[in-house]
Amino acid sequence: MSIQILSEEVVAQIAAGEVVERPASVVKELLENALDAGAGHIRIEVTGGGRQRIRVSDDGSGMIPDDVPLAFHRHATSKLRTADDLSHITTLGFRGEALASIASVSHLNIVTRHTDFSAGTLLRLRGGQITEHKSVGAPVGTVITVENLFHNTPARLKFLKKDSTEKRHIALIVSRYAMAYPDVRFVLEQDGREIFRSSGSGFLGDVLVAALGLDTFRDMVEINTEHSGQSIRVYGYTSAPNLHRADRTHITLFVNGRWIQDTRLAYAVTQAYHTFLMTGRYPVSVLLLDIPPEEVDVNVHPTKAEVRFRDGDSVFAALQRAVRRAIIDLAQTPAVRGGDYTGRGQATEWGLDDSHLQLDLSLDLETPGQHTRHRFYSPAEGSPDATAVPVGPGAPARPRTLPILRVVGQIGATYIVAEGPAGMYLIDQHAAHERILYEQFMEEYTRQEQAAQYALSAQSIHLPPVEARLVEENLEVLHSIGFALEPFGPNTFVIRAVPALLANQPPGDVLAALIEDLESGTKPGQASIEERIIQRVCKQAAVKAGQILSFDEMQGLIRQLERCQSPLTCPHGRPTMIHMTTDQLARQFGRLG
Ligand code: ADP
Ligand code: MG
Repeated sequence: MSIQILSEEVVAQIAAGEVVERPASVVKELLENALDAGAGHIRIEVTGGGRQRIRVSDDGSGMIPDDVPLAFHRHATSKLRTADDLSHITTLGFRGEALASIASVSHLNIVTRHTDFSAGTLLRLRGGQITEHKSVGAPVGTVITVENLFHNTPARLKFLKKDSTEKRHIALIVSRYAMAYPDVRFVLEQDGREIFRSSGSGFLGDVLVAALGLDTFRDMVEINTEHSGQSIRVYGYTSAPNLHRADRTHITLFVNGRWIQDTRLAYAVTQAYHTFLMTGRYPVSVLLLDIPPEEVDVNVHPTKAEVRFRDGDSVFAALQRAVRRAIIDLAQTPAVRGGDYTGRGQATEWGLDDSHLQLDLSLDLETPGQHTRHRFYSPAEGSPDATAVPVGPGAPARPRTLPILRVVGQIGATYIVAEGPAGMYLIDQHAAHERILYEQFMEEYTRQEQAAQYALSAQSIHLPPVEARLVEENLEVLHSIGFALEPFGPNTFVIRAVPALLANQPPGDVLAALIEDLESGTKPGQASIEERIIQRVCKQAAVKAGQILSFDEMQGLIRQLERCQSPLTCPHGRPTMIHMTTDQLARQFGRLG
């Protein structure tokens, strides 16, 4: 092919690809513009995961008539004049790319009226070309409607995820901006249903309750270094050590009102919890940093999700110090949180000594011995039979990898001591039970496809908006595993059934645990979503550490473990037991040379 200069249209589409990756990016850019225009109330309406239609209405300054067509040219902005200005940007936008990019890959129309003008302007564009331009009556502010997104870029369209995934991304974006701008009222409507609303009260706490749910917010502490005399201010909320998640995605960071992704800063937050959280557990944090604009370079990436700091180390240190301070203060004065606080984390449960934390499972102790009996016994007792081991002639013959063990007793309500022909076995009751349930579940699951269910009297569960989208997205998988869930109102689900294994658990807790697993996403090398959900179901159903077991219960558990294909590890790969041979014991006592 000979060299040719690309047409304007192609150039615009290529450029658009950098800014507008998916419907959520459109929402992000339009929100930033509304915020830059000083809006106090922003309404976002989305249809069909954003592909059909996205409409953002604001009550900001609006645009003067002459500016409206200009705004759709590439590199047209009112926020930047000279390269010098780049060093102290105080607006969210400055590249002048968003509107041109969005318009080039959609059908867009805008109605806007500037505060100083009595009439508004309507402009309609198709694939970036103006098709209508007139003066109209309109309230002050701007309404931008984006339809048929990516209609002219089939490749991009093909890579879009399911509507439900896009909806979740949009909910996430809106809730983040609501956190960074608590004095702006945000309303998000998806397919005609309002799924998120912030009050605009100016209190971050109010937004967090709407976005994360009251249960989560209750276990968070406030941070504010405003009066510390430092040039970097850190404020927001971070979790008490009793609230933690499986990955870093619950650490939300903002720099100068802009949500950012920064592994290093997320690490600073995690590190602040050193000895307060088990390894592999991460806090829930919403932290905002105010840094003098000249100390931050926001012009690193087209989507502006990454920033560069002039002095990264001091930002790291300021963030880590602020979080650490809050956690330590909390540990020392447990009463600092709100008067009505009835959280699980009393000072005695998570002191500076991390030995309590290692015993994660023991923290949600049920009454010792309770709820255990049916788990090891036959269906005759009237409980769901999914946990029962097939016995008798019908039982599948499995290779024996464990010898017959004799139970000696229990240690610390956590480990079972047993004796076998080859010495002593110390068995982790929780890990062992997880293994047993997992193999039973997998066998049923592969054999019958539809897992055994336990019907509940319908219970409704209300979730924060982003989590609700996540459940919606995975309804099918959940169903195949034995959950019967139906959407009921915007962020509410009716739970009609759970896998039989979980019949005794509060459905709300079960769902919360599952959501955590769903959130950790599918990363390369990780088990499939299905498998992870099954593992979680088994973990949830398994007898806990800290639960006193009767002799028969222990014997029953060991019998079942003996029948497992891989009795030596739990489904997550941790050991279920420690074996000391007779020789090793003898050597320890100096009986063998
Ligand atoms: P940028 O935000 O980087 O300046 P955009 O393409 O997003 O670039 O927007 C171009 C210009 O259009 C902005 O600089 C602003 O002047 C104007 N504009 C866009 N959206 C709005 C809005 N909602 N209210 C008022 N003015 C707006
Ligand atoms: Mg912009």
